[in-house]
Parts: sequence; C-alpha cells; structure tokens
Amino acid sequence: MIIEFDRSRVTVVDHPLVQHKLTIMRDERTGSKQFRELVKELALFEGYEATRDFPLEDAPVKTPICATTGKQIAGRKVAIVPILRAGLGMVDGLLELIPAARVGHVGMYRDEVTHEPHEYYAKLPADAEQRTCLVVDPMLATGGSATAAIDYLRRQGVKDVRLLVLVAAPEGIKTVLEHDSEVRLYTCSIDECLNDAAYIVPGLGDAGDRIFGTL
Ligand code: URA
Repeated sequence: MIIEFDRSRVTVVDHPLVQHKLTIMRDERTGSKQFRELVKELALFEGYEATRDFPLEDAPVKTPICATTGKQIAGRKVAIVPILRAGLGMVDGLLELIPAARVGHVGMYRDEVTHEPHEYYAKLPADAEQRTCLVVDPMLATGGSATAAIDYLRRQGVKDVRLLVLVAAPEGIKTVLEHDSEVRLYTCSIDECLNDAAYIVPGLGDAGDRIFGTL
C-alpha cells in the first residue's frame, strides 16, 4: 500500500556521505561506539539542512587585510529537544553546529492499555516559545511519541517546530504531518514500512539500545 503525505514539508538529506554513513549504521555488525559516533555525525549534517532558511544580516568585520562586510545569523535562537531516550544521541552533533542552542528534554511512555503516548518528563528553556525548536529522535516509526512531543511544545507556545529523525517510516510521516499542519520534517531516509512490532523495515533496529549498548 502506498502511503501519501505532503512531501513539501519533508526534506530527505540525500548527501552521499550521509547515505554512506547510514548504511554503516544499518549494518547489524556495527557496534555501539561507532553507532553513537554516526548518530552524532548524521545529526550534525541534518542540522545544516534544518537551519538552511535561517535569515542572515550584514556584519562588519576586519580581516588581517582590510575591513569588509560579512554575514551573521540574524537573531535566531534555537532549542534542541531530544525525545528520551534515543534522541539524546543526536544532541551533541547539533550542539557542535549550534553551540549557543539550549537543550530541553521530553520523555514519553506508552500507556499499556490505550497505547497512547504520555509525557512523564519535560523541561524546556524558559524562553522556549521564542526559539526554533529542533525536536530530535533517530527513528520516526508510528509517530506517536513525535506527535505527543510536538503537542507539548505547541501547548508551551512554541511556533517554529522542526522534527529531525534519521530514519522515517511512511506511516509515521503521514501521522505527524496530518497531526500538525506546520511542522517540518528532516530525515536521512524514508524506509519501506513498519512491521507488526512497529519496527521500521529495513530500519536499523532499536536505536536506543544500539546507542546505549543495552541490546
Ligand atoms: N524505535 C526504534 O528504535 N527502532 C524502530 O525501528 C522503531 C522505533
């Protein structure tokens, strides 16, 4: 079954280096240390794409040769918001790219009876509503945690929410985009589907377990 969604709000980061590194991550023989390093690297690459539209302003600068006018980011503030726990693996890569970013956290659990996601922990920077919030989670599977995290941010007044994942299932993409009419999604791959256990196929397994070595 083909799942349709609004492709204008989805960016697939198809740079050759990203695709090469993603294949190493998919390989079941890749150990936790390398897997963690690759999550961090891909988050950094993805951060470039997710901030591509940040406005610039002129900035006077004196080089060792002469005075000139360079460019600087025009007052854009960023919060990185990992969805616990696997999202933590993407934070350091994004902080390397945007050192002034603040980091908020959102923790979700799935209700055993209703299967609905609920937040059990949330802490954002005080001025989160004025920031571009980059919600990060390596895997977008059903979209349950992502939509719950986005809802939480909307309730806090955040206007600019961007979801950064490494691998996405079409089912999850459709759910997220239909749930929130503004959010934009960045992913390194749109995979085939979900299996019966809600794992992404072909995917890369349980990202949290592979990052933290809890397999
Ligand atoms: N979470 C993961 O870590 N992997 C999947 O395939 C789906 C959800």
